[in-house]
Amino acid sequence: VSDILVIAEVRRGEVREVTAEAVTAALGLGADRVVVGAFGGDGAGLSYEGVDEVVVVERDGEGFDGSLMQATAEALIADVQPAVVLCGQSADAQGFAAAVAARGGYGFASDVTHVGWDSGELVARRGAYAGKFEAELDFPAKATTILLTRVGAFDAAPIGDAVAVRRLDAELPAPASRHLDYVESKPADGVDITKADFLVSIGRGVKSQAQADQIGELAERIGAELSASRPVIDAGWVPRFRGVGQSGRKVTPSIYLALGISGAAQHLAGIRGAGTIIAVNTDEDAPIFEVADYGAVCDLAEVTEALERLSAGG
Ligand SMILES: Cc1cc2nc3c(=O)[nH]c(=O)nc-3n(C[C@H](O)[C@H](O)[C@H](O)COP(=O)(O)OP(=O)(O)OC[C@H]3O[C@@H](n4cnc5c(N)ncnc54)[C@H](O)[C@@H]3O)c2cc1C
Repeated sequence: VSDILVIAEVRRGEVREVTAEAVTAALGLGADRVVVGAFGGDGAGLSYEGVDEVVVVERDGEGFDGSLMQATAEALIADVQPAVVLCGQSADAQGFAAAVAARGGYGFASDVTHVGWDSGELVARRGAYAGKFEAELDFPAKATTILLTRVGAFDAAPIGDAVAVRRLDAELPAPASRHLDYVESKPADGVDITKADFLVSIGRGVKSQAQADQIGELAERIGAELSASRPVIDAGWVPRFRGVGQSGRKVTPSIYLALGISGAAQHLAGIRGAGTIIAVNTDEDAPIFEVADYGAVCDLAEVTEALERLSAGG
């Protein structure tokens, strides 16, 4: 296997976790050399265990600009000549990686959950049909393939001893946009579910706005915060900042009570940091039971009614 390039994502001077996850995917491929490339900064925080070199393309300014990132990725690929390029699947990566692949004629896959070799050929698995299936892909006759790793699909690589940082001069175009400011999005009611110690989380097993509201009130009475899977958020029954998962929040409560949540990969990506997971689901084969510490195969209404009685002291 020849070299692998991991393109780092650095936001406001901090390396994002998706980069450490992409490094694990790279190391799993057993490359001769793993190089981490970054746009701007001094290379700090990129010396993961097993990485051989860090290459930094210098830049002025900050913030994401698709055309600058595209040119940076192209310069890094021209320099490292990798067989595989890995990036975390973030909003930023989706803003440049496909364009780089199209222009270079490279192989490309997004939402990658597994990557390996089969008879010397690169093979990647990715979600298909909104995560209901996994598709296995190969990239015949591609000397270079770009893969975006799904958030949470790989463990984060630990930082190792500092490795050499090399600067690379790249011809960058004029930016297509000007970064003005970062504006924090604030939860409308001041609740930050990422800080909650006890979450009562509802999924599509909940059938109405009224039932969602009722469980929200129950959660409050028993000292928990309400959170939800994406279909419940999309239905508008629970505000978006209470959504858990890959496109929602990553939560770390001591107790996560999942009511009527199937346990899709994109949901599980948000609860990897949870302590005790308790799942209630009518389907004994629901994938949530594979990660749950405790489970009950029953109608969630039975559990909420019992909790109502207990919280009323009855
Ligand atoms: C790019 C992308 C990003 C995504 N991001 C997220 C994300 O951040 N968060 C997220 O949650 N999803 C996300 N999804 C969607 C994800 O793939 C699943 O579709 C979603 O998590 C399913 O939510 P659910 O478990 O509530 O619903 P379902 O999968 O429909 O599961 C409902 C469960 O409830 C059970 N049930 C039904 N009735 C009852 C009852 N009366 N009592 C008990 N159990 C009952 C069923 O057996 C079933 O297991 C994303 C998808 C994509 C493609």
